[in-house]
Amino acid sequence: DAPPLESDGLLETRHAHFAKPQKNYYKTPPQIERGFGAQMYAMDGRTYLDMVNNVAIAGHGHPRLSAAVGRQWSLLNTNSRFHYAAVADFSKRLADLAPEGLDTIFLVNSGSEAVDLALRLAWAHSGARNVISLLEAYHGWTVASDAVSTSIADNPLALTTRPAWVHPVTSPNTYRGPFRGADSAPGYIAAVEEALKNVDAKGEKLAGFICETVYGNSGGIPLPKGYLKEVYRQVHERGGVTIADEVQVGYGRLGHYFWGFEEQGVTPDIITIAKGMGNGHPLGAVITSRAIADSLEREGYFFSSAGGSPVSCAVGMTVLDIMRDEKLQENARDVGDHLKARLEAFGQRFPIVGAVHGMGLYLGLEFVRDRATLEPATIETAGICDRLLDLGVIMQPTGDHLNVLKIKPPLCLTKESADFFADMLAKVLDEGW
Ligand code: PMP
Repeated sequence: DAPPLESDGLLETRHAHFAKPQKNYYKTPPQIERGFGAQMYAMDGRTYLDMVNNVAIAGHGHPRLSAAVGRQWSLLNTNSRFHYAAVADFSKRLADLAPEGLDTIFLVNSGSEAVDLALRLAWAHSGARNVISLLEAYHGWTVASDAVSTSIADNPLALTTRPAWVHPVTSPNTYRGPFRGADSAPGYIAAVEEALKNVDAKGEKLAGFICETVYGNSGGIPLPKGYLKEVYRQVHERGGVTIADEVQVGYGRLGHYFWGFEEQGVTPDIITIAKGMGNGHPLGAVITSRAIADSLEREGYFFSSAGGSPVSCAVGMTVLDIMRDEKLQENARDVGDHLKARLEAFGQRFPIVGAVHGMGLYLGLEFVRDRATLEPATIETAGICDRLLDLGVIMQPTGDHLNVLKIKPPLCLTKESADFFADMLAKVLDEGW
């Protein structure tokens, strides 16, 4: 059969009726209606390698997931006020993945909701309001999760519009921040101490501290050595609660670690997760201690109509089954290490390659115009992403300067696909970027 034609006028229909702030990738995007593993299939008959999807960790179109969803839908879907096995079983499985003491679960529908709830828990538990967050961060779109989001790439007005309870501190970017290298923690800890002094100066108390534990939004840059240990210590000293946003980097993607905070050798008070845990099904969770979870009771009940539904729990458990059976974390480590080594070697061939950040299948390739000044190659990065699309690779920029390739494919990525991506990138860079 001839391949199906693209739907005429579909993009215009989208622009006419789908609210504009919900941006789409690419000026003239391919119409993609199917996917399998890390591949996506467009209506013009072309296949693309999906190198940006940090949600579909088990891959697109996984038959075990559609079977599990279909089965649970035909049995029952209701809310977590009812008593059924899936909500108890899934909560236990999440608690078993977390460090000791973090054994109590809230189930919600997205990362934004998880972060929002984590902030409410910090407020309820501490009796205070002030929260320290990092510059360059993205934590979600709801009112509270947006308040602690400071990324100017996501919102150019972010730095002038945060509410007074948010205290953004210098992004501990060990590559291009004011202090560089793995041993640069003291400079960034001083910035947190400054923020604590500002809270004191208002005569107020601290509610908590939130950050990604490997800095995903700035391109997968590990935090400086010892940073979280000292920051968490000082936050606890002030009665604050520590929140690890593991929505992007946690849940096995780092390969070498299941959780990002393991890399820093710390245990947070609250973990937020979403994205990969549902493989694209709306699923998020807060994992915390019984004491912190119970503090919310002072504000009444917590209820989410679809959070923890039988279907959501079935999806969550099936994703974990697939991760175990297909050894996805190990694959993220092995294929990720291989890909990172290949990309690092590009540093010798292409002056535009400034650094390769990250680990496992969370990598960030940072492009610079000058390795001494680190001038971001923003326009070039956009051009490279457009050219990669021509060659069959979906790739997008990230970071405050939009000069970092965010490499976060499904965790089932094969070594052959990783090589295809590296080969296509080399081809583009050879063209003279
Ligand atoms: N936290 C982080 C670190 C994220 O990257 C995101 C999404 N990009 C969120 C929270 C919000 O998640 P969601 O889009 O599921 O609401």
